[in-house]
Amino acid sequence: MNMYDSEKMAGILLEEGYALTDESQKADLIVFNTCSIRQKAEQKFKSELGRAKYLKKTNPSLKIAVAGCIAQQQGRAMLKKYPNIDYVLGPQNIHKLKDALKTDITKIFVEENPEVQYMDLPVLRKESVAAWVSIMYGCDNFCSYCIVPYTRGRERSRPSKNIYTEVYRLASDGFKEVTLLGQNVNSYRSDMDFVGLLKLLNTVEGIERIRFVTSHPRDLSDSLITCIKELPRVCEHIHLPLQSGSDRILKLMNRGYTFDHYIKKIERLRKEVPEIAITTDIISGFPSETEADHKATIDALKTIEFDGIFAFSFSPRPGTPALEMEGRLPDDVKSQRLYEILDIQDEITTNKNMKFKGTIQEILVEGVSKTDSDKLSGRTRGNKIVNFRADNSCAGRLVSVEIVKVMRHSLEGKAI
Ligand code: SAH
Ligand code: SF4
Repeated sequence: MNMYDSEKMAGILLEEGYALTDESQKADLIVFNTCSIRQKAEQKFKSELGRAKYLKKTNPSLKIAVAGCIAQQQGRAMLKKYPNIDYVLGPQNIHKLKDALKTDITKIFVEENPEVQYMDLPVLRKESVAAWVSIMYGCDNFCSYCIVPYTRGRERSRPSKNIYTEVYRLASDGFKEVTLLGQNVNSYRSDMDFVGLLKLLNTVEGIERIRFVTSHPRDLSDSLITCIKELPRVCEHIHLPLQSGSDRILKLMNRGYTFDHYIKKIERLRKEVPEIAITTDIISGFPSETEADHKATIDALKTIEFDGIFAFSFSPRPGTPALEMEGRLPDDVKSQRLYEILDIQDEITTNKNMKFKGTIQEILVEGVSKTDSDKLSGRTRGNKIVNFRADNSCAGRLVSVEIVKVMRHSLEGKAI
């Protein structure tokens, strides 16, 4: 979501006559688009800001803007703490970047924006095959560990007409894939629900693949499962964050489902769409998590056998209920549990990937591989990365590839 917001800010700046540069010494303006989901992201921002402050010494006209969730969370305090910053913009106010550059008076833009869902901002997209498209903003779930509802505000769905127009234009510009973005896409609601929206977008000629993140397990409906099964453009992949395998921890997290409830959804998904790829998020070391709770998460991973996971150590965030909870675990316990989770999942992912060896997969070629410039890279419908040798004319096309080698995080193929 942040990367997409950055593309929007680049789009706004382009209209104002700016151009992107990779060399910070040449920049007239540096925009930091910050994330505060975990403390680590905040630390990264602080060290980068230190470098930018130094650049101001050699280029006094350089302006520094801080956007994103850290900006939202700290607001005025940020300007006090870091006087070298010129503008502070929260995620609901990125459209004000234009005004910010034209005034020396207002420097802070962090108010709640009830119109955020109606803003159709210009987007300077980095890629030319697959695009992100926001379908909703904010979140109303208030999971006890999460800062998002406080920084991105209340949940608001974008009108279906605006989404359709954006996707239609993307198709006309040659894009083949869209990923619909929202913190909880299953609760999308404008003049239609999420299933209605998928059916509408499935009619856009030229778009070969539709993906979406993130689905909340509590709100995953049977009708959405039917959509994944029946709509040809909707990919057979779902990211369904479990967070923990322990019901006691899930309750403390305020997730609104039990493990039993979750696994029933998985069974239903696999029954209806046997080839579906399922990925998840896990938080290790939530306050008061016991060895038994941790084991429940390990058991869940072994039982479900996800195609991939993102796992994080619990990070206490300001203003969230989990910050005040008793039983905070020491860092070494949290990381030891995290490594155990990652190790077990690595084995599961590798075993699952082995099943692809010798199969023929349909790949949407995105461009040159990031790890080997002699190869092209694309994804299967289940979102697995495949690298293979072929000439550049394949970029942006759907091609059939035989999987010849299996790595932990990617597959290697041979074009056929
Ligand atoms: N809306 C999405 C996820 C948004 S944040 C959802 O509900 O699934 C992405 C992931 O970051 C979360 O799924 C969670 O696993 C992780 N996360 C969020 N806050 C965290 C925190 N305080 N500490 C550790 N991980 C966190
Ligand atoms: Fe955060 Fe929960 Fe909302 Fe996801 S659903 S953004 S984890 S509050």
